[in-house]
Amino acid sequence: MKIIGVIGAGQMGAGIAQVSAAAGYRVLLSDVSKERAEAGKAGIAKGLDRLVAKEKIDGAARDATLAGIEPVGDVAAMAECDLVIEAATEREAIKRQIFASVGAVMRDDAILASNTSSIPITRLAQASPDPARFMGVHFFNPVPVMGLIELIRGLATSDATVAAVEAFGRTLGKEIVHANDAPGFIVNRVLMPMLNEACFALGEGVATIRDVDTACRLGLNHPMGPFTLADFIGLDTCLEITRVLFEGTGDPKFRPAPLLVKYVEAGWYGRKVGRGFYDYSGPEPVPTR
Ligand code: NAD
Repeated sequence: MKIIGVIGAGQMGAGIAQVSAAAGYRVLLSDVSKERAEAGKAGIAKGLDRLVAKEKIDGAARDATLAGIEPVGDVAAMAECDLVIEAATEREAIKRQIFASVGAVMRDDAILASNTSSIPITRLAQASPDPARFMGVHFFNPVPVMGLIELIRGLATSDATVAAVEAFGRTLGKEIVHANDAPGFIVNRVLMPMLNEACFALGEGVATIRDVDTACRLGLNHPMGPFTLADFIGLDTCLEITRVLFEGTGDPKFRPAPLLVKYVEAGWYGRKVGRGFYDYSGPEPVPTR
């Protein structure tokens, strides 16, 4: 593989473009407009400048990575790509429309992959030009920092497709794990019930936000507690994924905690809005309970 297309230049797409270009691939980066794709590249440049300032990379590495990323205004430019990774907004209709337009121009040996966190891969594959050459490639946020990629094969994904995307992922320096197409794949299947359970415990008065977080940090050796992590991810996202687990399995053990639903209904989505389980308006996060 030499040329990678990345569709969606938000936090995930920009990160995928960055790590791919840093590994030596030529990257075509698109979004809803060329301006948005260019804004994605400008964000990457800022992040790389910070790494240069911290002496984690040198100026030549930054320049080489940036030179490898070409913002494009139209998916028609993806005709020459070996692999196209879709990292657009988590809405099925948007992704289906992207697969139709990029599918019309892709080479008939090129692979199409989605970075979706929650939409079933087998279902999405139906909107792709060839389900055998379609799969899930789930990166983690922030992509340049997180060392894992979950690969998800749909029912029709071919072994050759899995092998090619696995080889690509390894060249990015990431560890690869394989998951079947089940709700939440691996990481969210295990993580979301823990975050949801922390919300049940809080709602039942088992302990305070601070004590649950401290208990998990020091008692489980987690780098951060569940409420701090949920605020980072976004409580709306946590609820959405928990609902996918609940609806996708039909198992009541995944039912969303009422307190999580309440926080989302209040618009307290976490860090991105300044308030979730913690209030971020002051110099230090303050627990809201
Ligand atoms: P984001 O909102 O930061 O970026 C989404 C980008 O897609 C935006 O720039 C938007 O303009 C663009 N977009 C929307 N419609 C488009 C279209 N028709 N064509 C091209 N671009 C379009 O979102 P994100 O956090 O980067 O998430 C992107 C995908 O990655 C989602 O599927 C999400 O579930 C998945 N994901 C997110 C995380 C995370 O922690 N944020 C982790 C793993 C996977």
